[in-house]
Amino acid sequence: MGKLFLVATPIGNLNDMSPRAVEILKTADLIAAEDTRNTIKLLNHFDIRVPMTSYHEYNRIEKAEELIGKMQSGMNVALVTDAGMPAISDPGEDLVRMSMESGIEVTVVPGPCAAVSALAISGLPTGRFVFEGFLPNDKNKKEREARLEALKNETRTIIFYEAPHRLVRTLEILVKTFGETRRASAVRELTKVHEEVNRSTLGELLEKYSLSEPRGEFVIVVEGEDPLKILEQKRSEWSDISIREHVERYVNEGMDKKDAMKKVAAERGIGKREVYRECTD
Ligand code: SAM
Repeated sequence: MGKLFLVATPIGNLNDMSPRAVEILKTADLIAAEDTRNTIKLLNHFDIRVPMTSYHEYNRIEKAEELIGKMQSGMNVALVTDAGMPAISDPGEDLVRMSMESGIEVTVVPGPCAAVSALAISGLPTGRFVFEGFLPNDKNKKEREARLEALKNETRTIIFYEAPHRLVRTLEILVKTFGETRRASAVRELTKVHEEVNRSTLGELLEKYSLSEPRGEFVIVVEGEDPLKILEQKRSEWSDISIREHVERYVNEGMDKKDAMKKVAAERGIGKREVYRECTD
């Protein structure tokens, strides 16, 4: 039985290709590439002479079945994309899942990834983060709204990918969702000559890129909401009803009284005893 190797490739600077990545590609029986015309340049540069086949968004299921057949017959397959880590906003997820379901060993050759690199260089908190990839476009407005609604109270740093021609539109949407003053970094052209980090606010980034046409590849990193602010907001939401009414609201929704009292204590930031006292008088 052959193996599947997920091989990360440079996101701009060819020197970021790891020696292990070169070795695995050289010794693979077949390289599955997102765009063979793009990957051939990489293979030529590193003198890698291995047959290629295309594995992209539009053939990802049928082609996965074909590749699994080849691995089951003993071939080692290496998957690469145009840049960065396969399966991260790039084809790969289905092939990994289907290979695992077929009992094929899947292994990774780690390397460049724009999301993690942009986060690290953004100057924003890195301890907790979420990756959102590309936001749905105008044709999928409902899905986009739902995703943004779910992010409104996100307290972790949020990472978005975006194409230059959609950057301004996306910044407009992010300003609407998170407000003009939310801190954010536009990280551009990582590892390339014009690499740059614009650490600012969403409002200022929108102004900057509306004035001059954005060029190159971008990652937008947005600071999460302050958890204390969310807590304060929640507490003030409850300030116009009594503790007893607050508990009754959850009980009327079907919650057990004890659980409702616990929840109310947590939401109001008060002790359970106080809630109990108010409800048993
Ligand atoms: N799989 C890739 C990875 O691991 O980063 C991501 C592929 S996704 C189709 C392409 C997006 O990644 C671009 O639109 C951009 O948002 C981001 N990206 C890729 N290379 C970049 C670079 N050199 N600088 C900034 N962003 C980059």
